[in-house]
Order: sequence, then structure tokens, then C-alpha cells
Amino acid sequence: MTRLDAATEILELAKELGVGAAAPVDGILDYCRHRIDGWVAEAGGVTGIDALESLVTKRLQMVFEEIRSEEDFDRLTEVYARGKKEFVFAGMRTKFDDDGNPTFGALVLRRNATADSPDRFVAVIDCRGNKLARRFFTRWHEIAHRLTTHADGGATEPGYRSEHDPIERMMDEIAGHVGFYGPIFDPAYQQASFGKSHLTFSTVEAIISEAFPTASFQATLFACARRLTTPVVYLEAALAHKKEVKRKLATPSMFGDDPPPGELRAVKVIPNKAAQQDGFTIPTNMRVPAASVLHRLFDAEPLTDDDDNEDLSQWESRGKTLERRAVVVEGRKVADRVIAIVQPVEKRRARDHCAQRNSLFTT
Ligand SMILES: [Zn+2]
Repeated sequence: MTRLDAATEILELAKELGVGAAAPVDGILDYCRHRIDGWVAEAGGVTGIDALESLVTKRLQMVFEEIRSEEDFDRLTEVYARGKKEFVFAGMRTKFDDDGNPTFGALVLRRNATADSPDRFVAVIDCRGNKLARRFFTRWHEIAHRLTTHADGGATEPGYRSEHDPIERMMDEIAGHVGFYGPIFDPAYQQASFGKSHLTFSTVEAIISEAFPTASFQATLFACARRLTTPVVYLEAALAHKKEVKRKLATPSMFGDDPPPGELRAVKVIPNKAAQQDGFTIPTNMRVPAASVLHRLFDAEPLTDDDDNEDLSQWESRGKTLERRAVVVEGRKVADRVIAIVQPVEKRRARDHCAQRNSLFTT
């Protein structure tokens, strides 16, 4: 059971789709996967991810419109608002340009389309600036809406929800699953990871070039982490403050014009399922150890050959260290942060257990 499983919106969606409420997230994922499996079987298989996307969107009577420049908004207004009297398209620009609530895509049910129109649903995908990196994922996110929340007869106004909304997070889950469709992803993963004992960035890159040429590195990395049966923690390290300082910084007068510089911290930490089960993680906001390769990557310093072997016990906070466990760390600098994966290369040591037994013998 995850937090998402307990969200009212997700329970309601599961009920609407007729899947069990015991594990609604998994139930909804299975529901989507089964629909797609059925279409693929009827079509006699698919040759790759592009063929899958066209098959699925065709079955869902859905077309994509991409925004690559400002003129594309004018084009949508012309084609859909003026031409097809779908006025919702005329006001779309302001929704996509809302800085407070970044919108990557929107799905529109056309009011004037007939029940059998191939473009009954139009998914508008924002590909401008740094939103382009998410293009592949956003397309599958909108497919996820159409597979679940936009059942026939649904609302004609697209919903512009916050990215933290449970429905949006559920759509990202679905996009991660069906966008990296198992029958296409699994063989690519097997081939790319053959003979390797743990996940590497080069495996992720090989999967991209082999089977998912338009997927982003990060989305593909997440797909690998999800499929992996061994623990892996994804983390992002960036300059940040400890909690007390963060609180003080919220009051502008505390530090005047000169706030203290932040330290390199694990600002985002996502353990995969195996890591959660194994209790293998790094607390969010913990300071990155000075000796970690993540520092050198962040400072763009040259690396040496054995830079990736570290120990989890290097991570410490207030005099307490994480467990002793050899780990392998791989990362790369992306904009203002380092994205990395941390994986154990040895089984968990029974340190606490032994220490306790020793103390029993000495007293
Ligand atoms: Zn959405």
C-alpha cells in the first residue's frame, strides 16, 4: 500500500474502472496494461514504441498537436477554434504559460466531433524550451488520461491540475508503465544489461538508442529502476540548506541580504521497490559526503577509475552514520544538480545485531 493508494481520488477512479480497492494503483495499472495488450494482440503485435503509440491513440480516437513555437498556438486557434468551433483552444496559451502551475500537456474532448471521429480527443503537448525533454513522457501521460479519467461522455474542458494532484501522479505512473511497454522494454533491457551485476547509465543509454529513441534519459532510468529486482536509489544532489536554516530563510529579515550558501544535499531521493523492502535508502536533504564522487561531479572535477566505489557509512548527520555497506555510485551533472544512482554491492551486514550480542557477553 502506498500513499497514492490511500488517496480518495485514486480509490474513486479504481471504483469507476471496476478494479479492486485493495491495491487501487496496481489495479489501475493492470487495467491499462490489459486494454493495450488486447489491442496489440488484435493487431498481431507491434514493431516498436512508435507503432504502439499510433495503435493505442487510434483505438482511443486521439490525435496529438505539438506546440514548438508561439505560432503553434495561433495555428490551433485557427484550425480548432475558428475552423471547428472548439473555442477551448483559443484560450490555451495562458494555461500553458502559467508559471505557478507548469502544464506540459492537455487533453480535449471535442464537443463538435462525432462519436466515430478519429480526432475526437486532441492532446496538446508543449514542446517549448525545457519541456521538450518530457515530450515522450507527456504524450503517454495524456494517453493515460484518455485510458482512464476521460471515459466517453467526460468533461469537455481539460483539467489543469497541479503536478502533486493524486490523479496527475497516477497518470505519471501509468505513463511510466505503458510508455515503457513491457514486451518492447524487457528484451531491450535484457540485451543492454546482459552480464552486468548492477544498473549503469550506459545500460540506460543503450535502451534509449535501441528501443526508445525519443524517451528522456531520466524517464528511461526510472523505467529501469522499476524493473530492477535489486535495490537502487535514484537521487538528485543540489545546493540546499538544512531544515532549520530553510525555516529561517523563509523570514527574510533573519539573514539580511546575505543568506548563507547552501551545501550539496540529497534534495530528491527515490528508492525502487527492492530498496524499500531492503530498507536501503538515504534520508532526503542529507548532506552529500565530502569524499563522494557526487561532489566531484557537481564541481565538474576530473574523475579517477575507482571513483564509483563508496560506502553508505560515509553519509552522516549529527554524528550518526548510515549503515556500513559497500555501494556503487554513478552520476552526472544536469543543469544545477547531479542526478545519480546508488546501489549496494554487498548484502546488508548484521552490525547492530552483533554489537548487541558482544555487549551481552561483556556484562
Ligand atoms: Zn495530466
